[in-house]
Amino acid sequence: MKAVILYGPPGGGKGTQANLLSRLSGFVHFDTGQYIEELLLDPISEKDSILEREKKLFDEGKLCTPSWVLDIVKKKVAVFHKAGLSVVFSGSPRTLYEAFGDDATEGLIPFLGRLYKQEGIFIFVLKVRPETTLARNSSRFVCSLCGQPILYSGIELSQCPFCGSVLRKRSLDKPEIIKERLIEYANRTEPIFTKLKEGNYDIYEINGEPMPQVVFNEIRAYLDIVAKENK
Ligand SMILES: [Zn+2]
Repeated sequence: MKAVILYGPPGGGKGTQANLLSRLSGFVHFDTGQYIEELLLDPISEKDSILEREKKLFDEGKLCTPSWVLDIVKKKVAVFHKAGLSVVFSGSPRTLYEAFGDDATEGLIPFLGRLYKQEGIFIFVLKVRPETTLARNSSRFVCSLCGQPILYSGIELSQCPFCGSVLRKRSLDKPEIIKERLIEYANRTEPIFTKLKEGNYDIYEINGEPMPQVVFNEIRAYLDIVAKENK
């Protein structure tokens, strides 16, 4: 079993790569952002004061409260591990606290280390230019039903090619929110890389500019995984 963490700015392709690992190599794709969005957009969240607080942060393009995110993520990961599943994260843990915790709380990295062992943890950083980030996010849609992300390929789709449902833009992909997220990434996520290196975790830097399949082959080579035949 492996735990893979994919980092990169918004539009860096981490969601796409995580989906490929999921479809071709049997990983569970844990997209913390999507998981949080689902929780917060669920109408029931209006009745819960904690979820209400988190929804306000989310709507303003800010990161949700780290202790809350860490708690819900660890609970979910424990379920996957118990089921014998490898897991891939796209973009999380997002902060030093989420990654390493504090005196009272175990962070996600040591938590994963206990479950999957340090040699089972693989961390990748997808490098893309800010122009690429903005261009990709401004042309990105997801299916409102199945969540399938749609890459812009020069053809405007009106419905999801998988289930036929309506496509929508994620609220996370609005330009003003993307700028906010780029700043958050630099200030809150990048310091994690330094600490990971101090903890003797290898970080594999990957050029995220090429087409997804090129990036995927590079990731797969590091993971030494033979993808299941795509039938
Ligand atoms: Zn769909």
